[in-house]
Amino acid sequence: FADRDGYIWFDGEMVPWRDAKVHVLTHTLHYGMGVFEGVRAYETPDSGAAIFRLQDHTDRLFRSAKIMGMKMPYSKEVLNEAQKQVVRENDLHEAYLRPMAFLGSEGMGLRADTLQTHVIVAAWTWPSYMSPESLEKGLRIRTSSYTRHHVNIAMTKAKANGNYINSMLALREALDCGCDEALLLDPEGYVAEGSGENVFVVRDQVLYTPELTSCLDGITRKTVMQLAAEFGYKVVEKRITRDEVYVADEAFFTGTAAEVLPIRELDGREIGSGSRGPITEQLQSQYFDLVRGRLAKHAEWLAPVSQ
Ligand code: PMP
Repeated sequence: FADRDGYIWFDGEMVPWRDAKVHVLTHTLHYGMGVFEGVRAYETPDSGAAIFRLQDHTDRLFRSAKIMGMKMPYSKEVLNEAQKQVVRENDLHEAYLRPMAFLGSEGMGLRADTLQTHVIVAAWTWPSYMSPESLEKGLRIRTSSYTRHHVNIAMTKAKANGNYINSMLALREALDCGCDEALLLDPEGYVAEGSGENVFVVRDQVLYTPELTSCLDGITRKTVMQLAAEFGYKVVEKRITRDEVYVADEAFFTGTAAEVLPIRELDGREIGSGSRGPITEQLQSQYFDLVRGRLAKHAEWLAPVSQ
């Protein structure tokens, strides 16, 4: 992934992709203290490539940094512009963007008071997070043997680098068992989220999603909750048990990378009809229309990279 053409924004400059390097004593590489975002830009009919909910992602990056006690060396405005610039200068029409703030190689050890925060923004084409068929057919998932972080162990409101060790263990276990994704439970045994997605279930035309206690405050989650409310569906945030998922009419994941992905099976139990449910389909299609600028509403969520 490092050996390719293009540019990465690195501490205020556009650096050729192959030269965007750090030292092996980079602090974040050793201890995992860093924060990042996953953002997408889509091609829109009127304004070319536009970044979906750019300000919300930048705001969350700064909240993550605050939680982790990292001082951001650039303003939100500079990072918004950096994200537009990487899409423009890499000539991308649709892109996944990765802003990340990390601690450098100015010192070692946990005390590390000499450290500085560095920031990169990379962007590349990443059409579909899972197989393209899964958008229609849905995923087979399993309850993970790994528990989602307790709120006083890792800070679940922060999209922090080190938190993803837990996600990777859970995903690896699910893939090794022939599934597509993991469902992680919180330390009390209630449904939290996927390895990189929030989760929803639908029962009797009502949508349910876990409260934010031990899952990430997902931007796609918030978007889908709003779209569902606009369709007139009731949306309830509450504790959900794994057996509630077994007997749901529909279930789906949401995430910037994953978008809106149906879940067709959990722990060998078919969910609903065993394929994408009608409400999932309606919300998925509305989501794609929204991010690609095909809806009149919520134009404020699209930030054209040309402006
Ligand atoms: N949970 C986790 C653990 C994630 O990594 C992500 C992806 N950022 C999400 C949920 C979904 O968040 P969003 O919709 O903001 O991408």
